[in-house]
Amino acid sequence: MGRSSKDKRDVYYRLAKEEGWRARSAFKLMQINDEFNIFEGVTKVVDLCAAPGSWSQVLSKKLRAQKSDEEKESVKIVAVDLQAMAPLPGVIQIQGDITKLSTANKIVDHFSGEEADLVVCDGAPDVTGLHDIDEYIQAQLLLAALNITTHVLRKGGNFVAKIFRGKDVSLLYSQLRIFFPVVTISKPRSSRNSSIEAFVVCQNYSPPTGYTPTMVNPLLDHSYTDFNQLEGVNRVIVPFLACGDLSAYDSDRTYGLDIREGEEYKYLPPTQSPINPPYKSAVDLKRNDGIAKPTQSNSNSKQLDAENSDATDTVTQGVANMDI
Ligand code: SAM
Repeated sequence: MGRSSKDKRDVYYRLAKEEGWRARSAFKLMQINDEFNIFEGVTKVVDLCAAPGSWSQVLSKKLRAQKSDEEKESVKIVAVDLQAMAPLPGVIQIQGDITKLSTANKIVDHFSGEEADLVVCDGAPDVTGLHDIDEYIQAQLLLAALNITTHVLRKGGNFVAKIFRGKDVSLLYSQLRIFFPVVTISKPRSSRNSSIEAFVVCQNYSPPTGYTPTMVNPLLDHSYTDFNQLEGVNRVIVPFLACGDLSAYDSDRTYGLDIREGEEYKYLPPTQSPINPPYKSAVDLKRNDGIAKPTQSNSNSKQLDAENSDATDTVTQGVANMDI
């Protein structure tokens, strides 16, 4: 695929480069804010699963712009990810796994004596294409983020997190409602309809009376099987809201390269290349001839793979459906 065809196929990818965002996800957070006004009055925020950093860029820009140096000092943005992230102004970075107690403790340490007004989490697993596993890991990330949130969020604060609209959505919604009186599942216009991704916007943090935050809360219960367990009076209707102006670009549509009248299209490289991507070692191995060459037996298995191409299609489709 040529460079310009991705710009054509994915208008938010192109806009992200033009506006200097590290990822197209920046638009998702901005559209959520347009609908829910989550940045209002915020000076302390945690960005979980933050790499390559477009949400942190949005936070840094929205919370620090047009402020005096002194006011900027009072803004605290803590960003966490498994991956290393190129530095950003005013953003404290922690490299670690948010499901690990040690990472959670580091985040909590940064907030000693202080509380966050907002916690956001755009966490997504490296998708396998096996939907049940991907949805399960996604749910675990969301619940790990909730555990961390209960340690750092001030009462009345907000929590926004990516969720996959799979079979566990009603259960997750019910768990979040224990801590937040208002929980909405929201789909920004920049998130493709073909993707099962959405975002929970949880407002007005109000933990149950006497609740003591703990990092060892159970995550998704293995014995729970499906939403049918939330039947009858236990059944919940999950509020769903599409957000983003109707005039905003449609992420499922292919646009021409001439999206602005009278302006000539110019290819732009990505704003920030990955600094230490997981695929780097495979590329190095390939360059140095370190990857095994096909032998007679594994070329036979290649033929088998080709014959089983339906299975390959399913995996590809699974990955495409995640919109990350
Ligand atoms: N919000 C980011 C942005 O705007 O640039 C994009 C986040 S990307 C969709 C998902 C991120 O989740 C990846 O960078 C991945 O490393 C991170 N992630 C996945 N599992 C994680 C975990 N257990 N702990 C920390 N980060 C994790």
